[in-house]
Amino acid sequence: MNDSKKYGFTTTILHSDRQKAIEHGSLHKPIHTSVAFGYKDARELAEVFQGKKPGYRYGRQGNPTVSALEDKITRMEEGLSTLCFSTGMAAIGALAQALLRAGDHVVSSSFLFGNTNSLWQTVNAQGANVTFVDATDVANVEAALTPATRIVFVETIANPRTQIADLARIGELCRQRGILYVVDNTMTSPYLFKPKQVGAGLVVNSLTKSIGGHGIALGGALTDTGLYDWSAFPNIYDNYKRNPVQQWGMAQLRAKALRDFGSALGPEAAHHIAVGAETMALRQERECANALALAQMLQADERVSAVHYPGLPSHPQHALAKELFKAYGSLFSFELKDGVDCFDYLNRLKLAVPASNLGDTRTLVIPVAHTIFYEMGPERRASMGIAESLIRVSVGIEDTADLVEDFRQALDA
Ligand SMILES: *Cc1c(COP(=O)(O)O)cnc(C)c1O
Repeated sequence: MNDSKKYGFTTTILHSDRQKAIEHGSLHKPIHTSVAFGYKDARELAEVFQGKKPGYRYGRQGNPTVSALEDKITRMEEGLSTLCFSTGMAAIGALAQALLRAGDHVVSSSFLFGNTNSLWQTVNAQGANVTFVDATDVANVEAALTPATRIVFVETIANPRTQIADLARIGELCRQRGILYVVDNTMTSPYLFKPKQVGAGLVVNSLTKSIGGHGIALGGALTDTGLYDWSAFPNIYDNYKRNPVQQWGMAQLRAKALRDFGSALGPEAAHHIAVGAETMALRQERECANALALAQMLQADERVSAVHYPGLPSHPQHALAKELFKAYGSLFSFELKDGVDCFDYLNRLKLAVPASNLGDTRTLVIPVAHTIFYEMGPERRASMGIAESLIRVSVGIEDTADLVEDFRQALDA
């Protein structure tokens, strides 16, 4: 495979490992479990430590199996470089650990994955300030900016209510103001959408979800798209300014978050995720088609009061989703009419499993207000558009007719 030629998404991922020599012609990058990396010449070890020579030092800061996965994600996002972390939350936490200081300000979408919402509350209590805004309209983001704003953070399709941020306009605003724009691409995945297209400087992916895809390994990643000018970022320490400007952000993230906070991805997990990634495009095609079929069936049923899915013309940002994304995603949520108990409904499903994960090959369902959004309480739930009866569905790759029949028969109490 000639690296300079542009191949399709799946071809690129399948042949990514072979871009670098692999031991014994192995077709998969092997699982390297060694924590330490030995050098014959002690001076070479010193050069690696001083950043004068590429090489591995200690497993917490880098590992060959993890690097191979980082290369794959960089190719998926068409970015400059990627850092992997133990989980998606560790990747988001790294932003706060490595890039923010006391007194800094963050503007975040208020339509967020629950644990990210909780993380920003912690950051708020620790000395930086986070303002939550309805990011479906760039005007709300612009009104919240202050001279201390360092990061604007949004999700593509918000989990679980599927609101879509005003992605391109927010990107343009951040570009004009020199603010770092961070987009969590987990719900779309780099197959459906590349945040680089809308000006994101850093892209977050939870590898646990669609990229790994089988619910057998946790992981997270930050990708630098190469679009952000790090010389405009006031919090880079002098140590990391020895690198070319394009690398400042990732150099600081690797040292201050990965090395100092220790949230390294293990090589076994990296291997599982890399194998899963090979079929991401195939899985996503099926999952998105299944999600659309289920959403359409439920919307047409009078026992269902609301269905939230960007693929439905009734969705407030349907046109935007159609313009930006290859398909509408594998997640939707819905509300049952008063009188239909959401727990009873879930218990009548025969295939879909009550469980908390997304992007698994199996269809998973969860009553949102009673589980993943329980801790935040009814007021904050209401402000995020979370109804008490909301059911979130992560759609798997089962045969479409089987899934539609399962969700239909469960309506017949
Ligand atoms: C799951 C998820 C995360 C966190 O990922 P983990 O790997 O579970 O830590 C972050 N953002 C979004 C949108 C998610 O769905």
